[in-house]
Amino acid sequence: MFEDIPVDVGHVYEGERIRSANMFVELAGPKSVGAELLRVVEKVDDGKIEVIGPDTDEMIEGESYKFVLQVNVQGDLLEEEIEGVLETKIHELSNYIQGYMHLNHRDQIWCRISKEAFESGFKFKHIGKVLGILLKEEFPIIQGIEIKISTDPKEVEKFVEKAMEIYEKRDAMARELSDEDVDVFYGCVMCQSFAPTHVCIVSPDRSGLCGALTWFDCRASAKIDPEGPVFEVNKGNTLDDVRGEYDNVNDVVADKSQGTFNRVYLHSVFEYPHTSCGCFEAVAFYIPDLDGIGIVDRSFKGETPLGVPFSSMAGQCSGGKQVEGFTGICIEYMRSPKFLQADGGYERVIWLPKELKDLLDDFIPEEIKDKIPTEEDATKIKDIKEFLSKADHPIIIRWEETEAEKIETKKSDDEIVMESTIPQVAYAPEISVPASGEFRIILKNAKIYAEKVIIRRNENKFDKS
Ligand code: SF4
Ligand SMILES: [Zn+2]
Repeated sequence: MFEDIPVDVGHVYEGERIRSANMFVELAGPKSVGAELLRVVEKVDDGKIEVIGPDTDEMIEGESYKFVLQVNVQGDLLEEEIEGVLETKIHELSNYIQGYMHLNHRDQIWCRISKEAFESGFKFKHIGKVLGILLKEEFPIIQGIEIKISTDPKEVEKFVEKAMEIYEKRDAMARELSDEDVDVFYGCVMCQSFAPTHVCIVSPDRSGLCGALTWFDCRASAKIDPEGPVFEVNKGNTLDDVRGEYDNVNDVVADKSQGTFNRVYLHSVFEYPHTSCGCFEAVAFYIPDLDGIGIVDRSFKGETPLGVPFSSMAGQCSGGKQVEGFTGICIEYMRSPKFLQADGGYERVIWLPKELKDLLDDFIPEEIKDKIPTEEDATKIKDIKEFLSKADHPIIIRWEETEAEKIETKKSDDEIVMESTIPQVAYAPEISVPASGEFRIILKNAKIYAEKVIIRRNENKFDKS
């Protein structure tokens, strides 16, 4: 079947990683642009593979190239609804090719060709050939397939723009529906090949964290491929509709994670957040020092307020782990009215990259938009805090309201003991000290970021910064 392909093709190559030292070229990915799109059309020229722009033998070793992969399929039983599902299959199936690595989906794809593959004569038409065969094999309802690969910079850019409109159309459809409108969610375990305990729970309000599978996509997938990685999950009883916890969802997560987790909250980063595989588009992370939540997406290359870039943070919480304070999300989830609703939604968000903020311009509530800093405003905790205070971000109310329960102060003439009732509590806007004499402040279970020390006596305030 693959006799004219110069490299091997098979399931065994699925987990193959091509490190930069062993890479001939890189396609799309963080240093370039690209996308892949699968469409159901009425007529195709079955078997046609077209390559536009430089092929592998015209490329320079070590470089990154713009890259798009366009697949048109035809079949009497195929409907537009299925496009997203078949499209996500491209990721899995192209990884069967030895010496070719494919990561992520949609406009986030990132591919590499190994030096060995190149030396053996690997060309782009071979990707098309393999995909054509494997897609038809896996989905017999596909009767015809044509594939176009382009590395021509102009054409790629034009195509990515068009593809974005189609992704948006798919996402918008799911946006009309809410979690409470349905009794059935979907589970996806496609990422268990590298994150063995990861189970995505896809609800109308929370698409798969790779951003490629909406609730509608999953419904279509479970229908045409009942033995596949996407399956129906009856919600069961609602245990907590704000956090998004359901008894049967918990049972399914326990079963599919081989008993590693037995609870999941769909709409919170605290206690039992959704597990994270590795292909999430963004991470929501708790910033303990400010009791708020930051978001960082894959394309942001700088440092986050936690002092590490996206890649290190992803390393800490990926692989199918459930790490309190972190959860992998897709960007579409940030357009849902349920976005981290248990934690306060956007009112709890205290930092995000500028580009992401612009992308979500229509979805971040108007009254809070200017109050959330980006890397252009601040990245260090101290500066973010200052920004939030100046902007009158709602998190400030939280600082003040929770203050009383967090800090207990015991005073004697020369000593103040502050004891937090919750670990990690970090903010004490005011510290009261006696007006005269020496004193000590002892902190138990708490860190203090008090820039102002107020001296109180009989409630008369003397400000002594
Ligand atoms: S991230 Fe989730 S929805 Fe996307 S392919 Fe992986 S398991 Fe499926
Ligand atoms: Zn994944």
